[in-house]
Amino acid sequence: MYKAVVIGTGPAGLTAAIYLARANMHPLVIEGPEPGGQLTTTTEVENFPGFPQGIMGPELMDNMRKQAERFGAEFHRGWISQADLSQRPFTLKMEGQEDLLAESLIISTGASAKLLGIPNEKANIGRGVSTCATCDGFFFRGKKLIVVGGGDSAMEEAHFLTRFASEVHVVHRRTELRASKIMQDRTRTNSKITWGLGLSPVEVATHDEHVVGLKVKDQQTNEERIIEADGIFVAIGHHPNTGFLQGQLETDEQGYLVVHPGSSRTNIEGVFACGDVQDRHYRQAITAAGSGCMAALDCERFLDQVENR
Ligand code: NAP
Repeated sequence: MYKAVVIGTGPAGLTAAIYLARANMHPLVIEGPEPGGQLTTTTEVENFPGFPQGIMGPELMDNMRKQAERFGAEFHRGWISQADLSQRPFTLKMEGQEDLLAESLIISTGASAKLLGIPNEKANIGRGVSTCATCDGFFFRGKKLIVVGGGDSAMEEAHFLTRFASEVHVVHRRTELRASKIMQDRTRTNSKITWGLGLSPVEVATHDEHVVGLKVKDQQTNEERIIEADGIFVAIGHHPNTGFLQGQLETDEQGYLVVHPGSSRTNIEGVFACGDVQDRHYRQAITAAGSGCMAALDCERFLDQVENR
C-alpha cells in the first residue's frame, strides 16, 4: 500500500514526485511507455526558466527524475490498464504485474499530439517534423514552413510561426477550415501565411535524411505533388491519456480531466490531476511543472486530513 502514487513522468508528474518525496511521502511513480513524456521528443528547450543557454528536452527530464530519486521517490516501469477509484485505497491494475494499492493518486499521464500516420513523419520528429510551434518555431528563422490542420490549433501555430518563418503554408485536407471565425480572420490577414486547401498529406518528403517538404494529394484531381518546406508542424489536435480511467473521473467534452478551479482536485476525493491531462490551453513544460507542484501540495494536505480523521 502506497500513500501516494504518481502516474506519469512528464514535468507535472516528476515535479509532484519531487515535492511529495521531499515531504517524506515516499511516492511511487509509475513510468509508462514514454518516460519523460513529450519533452523527450523535442530537442532543445529554450524557454524553461533557469537554463539561459537552453537544455535538451531529454536531459531536463532526466534531471527532474534524478531530483525526485534523490529525495526518495521510487520509480516503477509499467502500464496501468485499469484503475478502480470506487473506494480507497484505490486499486491500480498493471499488465503482467501485481495490483497496486494507493491511498491517494496523482494523475499526470499527459496528452499526446495526434500524428498524421504518414511515412517519414514519426522518424523525423524533432528533426524537421514538430507538433509544438512554441517549442520548436525558433529553430526555423527565415525558413519556409508547413502547418498541417484546419482547426484553431493550426491557425494559432501558423500565426505564431510567422514570427520566425519567411512563409507559413497551411495544408488542410478540406477546402473549409474548422477553426473559429476569429482565428480564421486573424490568419487570413497575415501576409506571411499561404494556403493549400483540399490537400491530404501523403508522406513527409526527405532528401539525405533531411526534411525537404510534404507530399500531398489534391482531393479533387487526385494528383500528388511535393510542397517544399524546411519544417512541418502537425497541428491536428491532442488527445488526453485517460483511457485507463474508463470514465470514472469527470472530463470536459474533449476528454480532459476536470479539476476544481484553482486546485488539482478531481471529482473523487484523494485523486488529483496535473499537467496536460487536465490542461488543453497552455500545454507548456513550465505550466505542467507548476500544476504538478499544486497536486503534490493538495495531496499532502489530503493525506494529513485523512490521518487526523
Ligand atoms: P480540432 O478542432 O479537432 O481540429 C483538428 C484539425 O486537424 C481539423 O481541421 C481536422 O480536419 C484536421 N485533422 C485531424 N486529423 C487529421 C488527419 N489525419 N489528417 C489531416 N488533417 C487532420 O483540434 P484543435 O485545432 O487542436 O482544437 C482543439 C480544441 O481546442 C478546439 O475546441 C479549439 O477551439 C480549441 N483551441 C482553441 C484555441 C484558441 O482559441 N486560441 C487554440 C487552440 C485550440 P477536419 O476539419 O477535416 O476534421
